[in-house]
Amino acid sequence: MAVEHELHDYDVLVIGAGGAGLRAAIAASAQGARTALVCKSLLGKAHTVMAEGGVAAALGNVAPEDRWQVHFQDTLFGGKYLNNWRMAELHAKEAPDRVRELEQWGGVFDRTPDRKMSQRAFGGHTYRRLVHIGDRTGLELIRTLQDKAVHQGIDVFMECTVTRLLKDGDRVCGAFAYRRATGEYAVFTARSVVMATGGGGKCWRITSNSWECTADGHALGYEAGAELVDMEFVQFHPTGMVWPPGVVGLLVTEAVRGEGGILQNADGERFMERYDPKRMELSTRDVVSRAIYTEVQEGRGTPHGGVFLDVTHLPAETVRKKLPSMYDQFMELAGVDITKEPMEVGPTCHYFMGGMRVDADSGATTVPGLYGAGECTGGMNGANRLGGNSLSDLLVFGRRAGEGAAAYAGSAPAPAVDEEQVDGAAEEMTGYLSGPGSEDPYALHADLQEVMQMKVGIFRDRDGLASALESLEWLEERAAHLRAPSGGKAFNPGWHTCRDVRNMLTVSEAVTRAALMREESRGAHSRLDFPQYDDDWGRHNVVVHRDGASMVVERRPAVTRDELMELVEERREAEAR
Ligand SMILES: Cc1cc2nc3c(=O)[nH]c(=O)nc-3n(C[C@H](O)[C@H](O)[C@H](O)COP(=O)(O)OP(=O)(O)OC[C@H]3O[C@@H](n4cnc5c(N)ncnc54)[C@H](O)[C@@H]3O)c2cc1C
Repeated sequence: MAVEHELHDYDVLVIGAGGAGLRAAIAASAQGARTALVCKSLLGKAHTVMAEGGVAAALGNVAPEDRWQVHFQDTLFGGKYLNNWRMAELHAKEAPDRVRELEQWGGVFDRTPDRKMSQRAFGGHTYRRLVHIGDRTGLELIRTLQDKAVHQGIDVFMECTVTRLLKDGDRVCGAFAYRRATGEYAVFTARSVVMATGGGGKCWRITSNSWECTADGHALGYEAGAELVDMEFVQFHPTGMVWPPGVVGLLVTEAVRGEGGILQNADGERFMERYDPKRMELSTRDVVSRAIYTEVQEGRGTPHGGVFLDVTHLPAETVRKKLPSMYDQFMELAGVDITKEPMEVGPTCHYFMGGMRVDADSGATTVPGLYGAGECTGGMNGANRLGGNSLSDLLVFGRRAGEGAAAYAGSAPAPAVDEEQVDGAAEEMTGYLSGPGSEDPYALHADLQEVMQMKVGIFRDRDGLASALESLEWLEERAAHLRAPSGGKAFNPGWHTCRDVRNMLTVSEAVTRAALMREESRGAHSRLDFPQYDDDWGRHNVVVHRDGASMVVERRPAVTRDELMELVEERREAEAR
């Protein structure tokens, strides 16, 4: 029986209005495709808006010796050479043009004295490379892209959550969604779909991620047959707030260290000397996170279980000008004046290096008609992402995915909607309201976060991961009985959480299975039982995909490129010296 629903038809449907989705929609529409943008929150409020530190691009404004080759080398060194080399190449080559384009569209960034875009230092970047506006870069990026998208005539469906991709045979041909405010259902048909739904930090208890980061795109893509790559690599940002309890995990931007912030333990030691004396506070995030974790575990932590991050040696005016959000954040939330007292910080789950496996040039996933860009895709960052490389990734690969999807839509047949699929998707959602279950989605979410926090965190081992899988199985059984605690379809976050939790369960299982398979330590994946690099693993990615109801986990050769080998060897040799 057909359920009542709105029906919308487009050439290209973009799911997600963060930096990646907006840039993809602009690109698709510029190719003449009738383009729609669907997002869970309000336009302008996507998680990208929280980005603080900057966009990495080898413009050479502050360090004239910078060039794409060095950015490429830094990105590969940061990713421990497991990155998709073609993605890292395109990213390093194209980021400068994408940033200049943003400026031409009205983006305003901090300037050098000679009126060029200013660039700041960040961990793992050889040169000062991050274009920024104070510590509010994401806001400016979103504002600029949003202006451009709206003026280009893209149709936007806000507060509309996609719960399932629709298929016509093998190919993706649209999506099923509900309106958050009314609970009404909507069906979008499209010749191609771009997934740009961001990350999944909400699977962990301590996270810098916003409420909408529930890994929806990873899970929906997986359910539709897309392959996921690098899922074992989840980045824990070294500096989140550790106090007061209500704000634990909230990000303290790396720009603090970029501007000269110093890390000290409770004994006043500048402990990074022990972990990376060459780069110190500007070491890569995986290294700094492990260092902080170790200091705390070994009893040198601060009263609230973190370490100190200090900028009191900088002029107060510089701190307020370069780090205005951090100044306000600590003053308002913790009653700490960071120009006079150190901050207390500790690691927080921050970023998914893993996601849908895509073709570097076009953003095509392994499912026809489905494209991807941004944090819901994998490959670009390998085992660890450098700060600033996400915002540039959104611009470079958002554009490429939008163009790829528009080109596909140009020759794809009109989508045929299978009403049975629509009915199935609607029944699932309605079941969370009127089914026989009694499982509270909030309780299930909290239990999931605890499992991931305790057993699939910064340090892992076989016993912990195996035990996490058992716990996930138990949570899956409970998830079969999910039911919204109260209310109807209108304005009901409990109802929405039922579907979000299902997505997070799928993705948590993918992360855990991939982490169990990779028997070595590399980048953000640290195995206590396999503490060393393994050369063979260094040439392989872990790929997760669906086979019927089963989750399959496989080793695949990593994507390298002979023509870039010289650059990589040059860097490897320099690091070995
Ligand atoms: C506090 C913080 C600071 C950061 N600072 C930096 C920085 O300085 N530099 C840097 O490079 N990176 C930074 N990052 C990382 C970077 O911000 C993110 O990786 C990036 O913004 C992700 O962009 P995205 O477009 O992929 O997804 P998002 O910006 O997360 O957008 C996802 C979109 O998808 C929508 N969506 C999700 N699920 C659904 C669904 N089921 N149906 C419909 N719509 C859906 C959401 O509503 C949203 O519109 C930071 C991250 C955090 C948390």
